[in-house]
Amino acid sequence: MPASLDPRYADVVHRRRSADGAFWIGVTTTHVFCRPWCPARTPLPEHLEYFASPTAALQAGFRPCRRCRPLGDRSSVVLREGRVETPLGEMVAIGTTDGLALLEFTDRPMLRTQRERVRHLFASEILPGEFPALRQLQQELAGYFARHRTTFTVPLLPLGTPFQRAVWRALLAVPAGTTTTYERLAGDAGRPGAARAAGRANGDNRLSILVPCHRVIGSDGDLTGYGGGLWRKEALLELERRPS
Ligand SMILES: [Zn+2]
Repeated sequence: MPASLDPRYADVVHRRRSADGAFWIGVTTTHVFCRPWCPARTPLPEHLEYFASPTAALQAGFRPCRRCRPLGDRSSVVLREGRVETPLGEMVAIGTTDGLALLEFTDRPMLRTQRERVRHLFASEILPGEFPALRQLQQELAGYFARHRTTFTVPLLPLGTPFQRAVWRALLAVPAGTTTTYERLAGDAGRPGAARAAGRANGDNRLSILVPCHRVIGSDGDLTGYGGGLWRKEALLELERRPS
């Protein structure tokens, strides 16, 4: 065994049931996470990330495997849905005890598709109700619209492909009060020249405002599109331009 190989890899290779609950593995090529003994094909060691809890894997953007069901019984009902009032209109928030999976304006045309996608990714029904991140989100959004804060600490569950995750991570690094372009975003996400793909990943963002896809504009300074409506994009950029 090479010195760099994680000792837990032996548990994975031998599909040891005794390792169940000790750690979870994320496969970086597929962004799926599993129990150590998952019957799916054993990934190469360099494609593995180890997590101490399913929550940590979800917050890193990995989605639960359908074969080994790493969320266990929790996967029967995990998603809850609530509403948030903002000065720009009502928003839908969907999350689990682990964090926030979706935040979107209720009148956005893509909402239905995105809601369906979240349901599928978590393999869970969506029931109305509270979840821990909801109250925190309401407080932080109120502070944001009152110009008291420009960043958020709500735990996010940005489940997606490796490239989507890279684009969303790059978005999180764009400070309030500034903008970026699809070209720069593609480069920051590790695929220079893939502006169109970066634009698609930007449009697939399910965590409006928190993952600031509204901070992407055309290289000519044009506002380009916004899923929540251009007037909202304009309002958000204006709000961030003049912090108190
Ligand atoms: Zn699995």
